[in-house]
Parts: sequence; structure tokens; C-alpha cells
Amino acid sequence: MKALDELTFDNRFARLGDAFSTHVLPEPLDEPRLVVASPAAMALLDLDPAVAETPVFAELFGGHKLWAEAEPRAMVYSGHQFGGYTPQLGDGRGLLLGEVYNAAGEHWDLHLKGAGQTPYSRMGDGRAVLRSSIREFLASEALHALGIPSSRALCVIGSSTPVWREKQERGAMVLRLANSHIRFGHFEYFYYTKKPEQQAELAEHVLKLHYPECREQPEPYLAMFREIVERNAEMIAKWQAYGFCHGVMNTDNMSILGITFDFGPFAFLDDFDAHFICNHSDHDGRYSFSNQVPIGQWNLSALAQALTPFISVDALKETLGLYLPLYQAHYLDLMRRRLGLTTAEDDDQKLVERLLKLMQNSGVDYTLFFRRLGDEPAALAVTRLRDDFVDRAGFDAWAELYTARIARDGDDTEAQRRARMHAVNPLYILRNYLAQNAITAAESGDYSEVRRLHEVLSKPFEEQAGMGQYAQRPPDWGKHLEISCSS
Ligand code: AMP
Ligand code: MG
Repeated sequence: MKALDELTFDNRFARLGDAFSTHVLPEPLDEPRLVVASPAAMALLDLDPAVAETPVFAELFGGHKLWAEAEPRAMVYSGHQFGGYTPQLGDGRGLLLGEVYNAAGEHWDLHLKGAGQTPYSRMGDGRAVLRSSIREFLASEALHALGIPSSRALCVIGSSTPVWREKQERGAMVLRLANSHIRFGHFEYFYYTKKPEQQAELAEHVLKLHYPECREQPEPYLAMFREIVERNAEMIAKWQAYGFCHGVMNTDNMSILGITFDFGPFAFLDDFDAHFICNHSDHDGRYSFSNQVPIGQWNLSALAQALTPFISVDALKETLGLYLPLYQAHYLDLMRRRLGLTTAEDDDQKLVERLLKLMQNSGVDYTLFFRRLGDEPAALAVTRLRDDFVDRAGFDAWAELYTARIARDGDDTEAQRRARMHAVNPLYILRNYLAQNAITAAESGDYSEVRRLHEVLSKPFEEQAGMGQYAQRPPDWGKHLEISCSS
């Protein structure tokens, strides 16, 4: 295991030069202090988890110190925001500090979010507040623990620096890790500014570093696009299966690696609601829960447009056509597993849809329903769960189909089926109200709650002694928290 000064850098993106990013130094936070660190994320850098408690850790990730080998850069990109094209965006408050490679040979981008103004800050102050930094930290690590591809978070550093939002808050930084910070919007930027040479350089960079296996294919760029389509279809299927709502699926927030990226007003569903809008500023529901599926394809078609210099329009269209069937296959596969099924039958899709409709009509808790379904033998579980449904007759009819389906499924024992179900149905999920409790405590200087919540969510499928309060439906005040984009 390594100490902090033993990290090894290889800054491949910085080497692309000034057309792609600008050198900017982080602006330090006042009185930086550790709020929370993720031992699992530290392991990705081979870091000894004990170093998180040392003063130099808060100084490094609070913008006071830099490794000699770091090359902090603000990246330029653009993107479609809520469907309209914004010609220039970029890292307005985050910096790519450098790329660290670990003993396994993986490269990890170190991205410091909340590091101050950059040439891309537009009217913004370049800062992030404690509230939004905690939310990003908890979400990235919780998604990863659920098996959903995501950027990771090493730590949150708090401070006494005042930052103005609707009211005065405190500045914070979150250190984000990802194998790449390249977004769909990077390709759009060089396409729409008509810089073909740089665009070719970017495409070659992504192909070489992130999709090397596609280089063996007859049409490497097409193979790469296909892989991006597949990864997005799978990621969004997982979001849907676990009730995750991203909230700001602008193309500048979509990663070319198909990982969940850039967390703002995201939410996990409490009650199942296909029409749920987690972003208070999303008046038309463009990014509502169920709309995330077609928006995934919309975003991929925006990327496809930017790839037309490399791939024929016909091939792009054909590849885009794979998105929905791939999405559906992944989604159904996951939902079958959540229901405890190991085999496939033609009517499974209908079984899932019928259940979701019943849940929607009765406002049934999405996470707890599946967990409880695997708590007991199927026939017993459904009799207990029926009380949650207003339409009892409707639920009974569904339950009859379900128990018959389970009986036909396979020949493992009830106990084996229940163990399989618990391994895919989390007991703990990052509910908005749980995040809010942790934030309220942290804002008054008590970081124990955010640390405990992070720990509970790092093992979401495992029942943890004394943690029953994290596996509850929200109290009334926590049901409809309004989360805005202001972060
Ligand atoms: P987001 O909605 O967080 O994805 O941000 C959209 C764009 O606004 C990105 O280019 C961000 O870097 C920029 N941005 C967001 N908040 C700030 C801020 N406080 N200061 C400067 N730029 C910001
Ligand atoms: Mg963003």
C-alpha cells in the first residue's frame, strides 16, 4: 500500500495540449477538513486508508498542495442541455489534477470538483457546496456497491469558505475518480467548432486508451460507437431496475465509458412512480424516470452526429437501432433476477409490467417490495405484501401468476432462491431523506452520520446489525424533497 507521496502519474489527457484543456491551479479552501473518505475508492489508488486522517490529505484535496507530477487542467467541452445546444461548456468548477496508475495498471483520473474558477466558469463562482459534494460522494459509491457503473469518489473535504447559493453555505471539494472524464460533449465541441484535426486526435485518444480491443475490428470507430451504445443501454437498464433517476442527462453529463456521471438533483425512487421528476427545475419532465430510457438514445444520437466524420450515417443509424433491444434485454434480465427467476418465459415482460402498474397505483416502496418478496417462501411473502396494495384483487391475480411462475422456474430450494434474491435486491438505498439527514448533521460540523450512511450503503445487500433505521420508507417530511440544480 502506498503513502500519499507515492502516487505515480501519467497525464495522458494533459499531453493532448491546450486545444483540449487549460492549465489552472486549484483555489484552496479555508480550513480544509476531512468530511468522509471511501476506503474502497482509496484502494483503487493503492492508498493506505489510514492516510485519509492525516492533515496532508485534507490539504491535497482541499486545493492547498499539489504533487509535483500533477498537471491541473480544466477541460473544454460543449453539449446539449435540456435538448438545446450550448456551444461552449467545460470544467467550470472542476479540475483534472492528473492521471494516476495503480499496481494493476489501471489509470484513474483525479478530478477535484469545487476547485475554483476556470476560463469555463461563465457566471459561476467555481465552487461546490458541502451539500452537493456529499450527495455526489454518497451516490457514486452507493451506485458502485449496487453494481451500477459509476464514477467513484475518494473523499469530501469541507471548509469554512463561504459560498452563496440561495443562502450562504460552505464550500467543499469532492475528489472524483474515473478511468476517463471524456464526455459525449467533448466530441460535440470539436465537431461543432469545426476542428477536424483535434476531433480526430480526440477520437484516436479514446480508441487507443479506452477501447483498444476495437482497434482490431475492420471499422474501429464503428466498433467503439457500438460499445458505447451497449454500455449506455446496460447502464440505463440498471438505473431503471434499481429506481435511479439521474435528473440532468445533458450530453455534457454523459460519459464515453458508459458510467453514471455528474451528479446533481438525482434520486432513488421511494414509492414506485414511472413519471417521477427528481429535478425541481425540469418543468417538462424531460428527464423523468421513465423518459431516461428514450433520452439515453437521444443522447447517443447526438454523439452519433458528432461522429459522422468517422462513420457512415447508415452504420451509425443501424448501431443506434441496437440501443432499445439491448436495453430491454438487460432490463428484463435484471428484473427476472429481482423476482427470483432463473429461466426466461415469453410472458415475463408482462409479469413485470403488471407488477409495476400495481405498485404505481398504490405508491408501493420500490426497494422494500423486492427485498420482502425474497424474505420468505413466495406464497407467504405475497400474502404479507398484499396489504400494501389498494387493489387487492389485482395484486392477488398477479400473485397467483407469480407463484405459479416461481414453481415452474427451476429446481433449486426455496432457501436458495431467497439467497439469490437477497443478493440482487438491496435492503439499503440512498433515499433522499437519508442523504438530507447526513447533510444537516454535516452542515453543523457532525460528520458521523455521513460516514455511517456511506458505510451502510457500501454493503447494500447485506443486513447490518443495528442499522434498521436505514431500511425504512421516508417520513412525511422526506417524501418530496425539492432538489434543484443549484449545487
Ligand atoms: P452541471 O449542471 O453541474 O453539469 O454543470 C453545467 C456546467 O456549468 C458545467 O460546465 C459546469 O462546470 C458549470 N458550472 C456548474 N456550477 C458552476 C459553478 N458554481 N461555477 C462555475 N461553473 C459551474
Ligand atoms: Mg456537468
